[in-house]
Amino acid sequence: MSLLVVGSVAFDALETPFGKVERTLGGAATYFSIAASFFTRVNLVGVVGEDFTPGDAAIFRGRGIDVAGLEHAPGKTFFWAGRYSDHLNDRITLATELNVFAKFNPKLPAAYRDSAYIFLANIDPTLQRAVLAQVRRRPRLVALDTMNYWIERTPVELRQTLKHAQVLMINDTETRQLSSEHNLLRAARHIFRLGPRTLVIKRGEHGAMMVHRDSVFCVPAFPLEEVHDPTGAGDSFAGGFMGYLAKAGRVNDATLRQAMVYGSVMGSFAVERFGLDRLRALTRREIAARARHFHRLTQFQL
Ligand code: AMP
Repeated sequence: MSLLVVGSVAFDALETPFGKVERTLGGAATYFSIAASFFTRVNLVGVVGEDFTPGDAAIFRGRGIDVAGLEHAPGKTFFWAGRYSDHLNDRITLATELNVFAKFNPKLPAAYRDSAYIFLANIDPTLQRAVLAQVRRRPRLVALDTMNYWIERTPVELRQTLKHAQVLMINDTETRQLSSEHNLLRAARHIFRLGPRTLVIKRGEHGAMMVHRDSVFCVPAFPLEEVHDPTGAGDSFAGGFMGYLAKAGRVNDATLRQAMVYGSVMGSFAVERFGLDRLRALTRREIAARARHFHRLTQFQL
């Protein structure tokens, strides 16, 4: 099943207690598409600048990621700089330079317009909606990510876009902010009135929680001794989640639960090394082994 993602392709400057990189390939759509590519083919919609070289684009090659929708525009690629606290719990954004993103107007190649599974990564909700408007057939599943910036600055546009999404994937702080509810179950009920019928709350080292109609499902974060760089964990989670569902070709309570586990698996790999280094070197065999490990981790008898 075809999976479409729209979102940022970026150069990131990253600083964690384990090291520092001045400029490395990143962006939500990059993490997402690489994570999802282990499960299914991916169509990528985004924009890069003149500083994005064929060497940078090589990361997408040989993975079944179609970059016909990755526009090359005059100017510089989106740039983001972030620094993590000592225990990696907090992150501050040091710089966000929109560059070519400022004038981005997503255009879907004809072959992408029948996509059944769509992930709208964290970008301006108006752009997210512009992508949906170009899809010909009603997609099977639309999932959406957003952040405090859009919740605060473009609440009306965000609500318009949310009406067209079945799954909302955000973190706990964003959930509380969007719903004005501290309790996450009450927050889910509030969010269901805005459009989505499934809420996936990403909770970093505390794992992830899915509220789907009346059922709740939780997965832990995979216990890792070494976490080097949390950047992209959420987008890699989304890539595993949506990639698995697109591969399964069915969205129901069972496949959604399995997707939560594969999301956690992909997020846990992403944080083991800096930037995209771990995902770049990952194999399907390692993914399968970690999924089995997750199964053992959460099994118990009553
Ligand atoms: P995550 O750690 O999952 O929140 O994703 C981190 C990635 O999101 C980085 O690689 C950044 O390039 C990208 N990013 C950070 N801020 C933004 C933004 N405002 N819009 C789009 N992408 C962003």
